[in-house]
Amino acid sequence: MGLGLFLGMISRGVVADDRGKTFLLIMDAPTQPASTWSWELLKRSQRMDAVVENLRASFALPQSLTIHFSDGEGPSYDPKRTEITLPYSFVANVARHLSNAPPLEGNTALQADTLDVVEWVLYHELAHAFIHLYDLPVLGREEDAADALATFLVIELVENGGHIALTAADLLAHIAPYQHDDAFWSEHTLDQQRFSQVVCWVYGSDTTQFAPLAKSGTIPRHRAQRCPDAFMLMAEGWWRLLDRFIKSA
Ligand SMILES: [Zn+2]
Repeated sequence: MGLGLFLGMISRGVVADDRGKTFLLIMDAPTQPASTWSWELLKRSQRMDAVVENLRASFALPQSLTIHFSDGEGPSYDPKRTEITLPYSFVANVARHLSNAPPLEGNTALQADTLDVVEWVLYHELAHAFIHLYDLPVLGREEDAADALATFLVIELVENGGHIALTAADLLAHIAPYQHDDAFWSEHTLDQQRFSQVVCWVYGSDTTQFAPLAKSGTIPRHRAQRCPDAFMLMAEGWWRLLDRFIKSA
């Protein structure tokens, strides 16, 4: 279901003509044996196909945007090629970080979690693409904006999207101890803070469904009280920036 259908919004037609311009998904055959597991998981699950289908139904584009899985670099967005690149090695690394107990074969819970993280990261890169293609203003750090938009999009576009964002946040918390000393200078906010920010938005989006996050103390009580407002402020900001580009139902 696209966003337009969800909210009954009418596109104001800022993208004057989007005919023939769309989201494209390319999955190269892997060139390295180590990439086969990732490639097969992505193909078999059809999760990325569902993401692209959803995006096509929801957003008008001024230019086609390619989402490209390969043995190349990334995850990143290349504005010159209007292309998001996601390497199979990244997918495998996510699985490795999520699991201390190989093998990966037959571990369906791990595979589902891996796909959750990859989907959220795809939305994070999509945020960079939207900022470029829609010429959106960025107040503050673009990486923080991308985390916000990724979380906003999974929550609004995907059934059980809050859970997807939480899986990604868990991974950020997991890799936090491995950050280098120069992390303070990184374009990304420290992973532990990215974790707490995403968790707060997810909790704030639905305090009933995600009540255990507050009850368990994952979110401290003083912060939990402010999360609904934090999510509302963030979501309203994105709605205002994006609604011109949302396709009418
Ligand atoms: Zn980024």
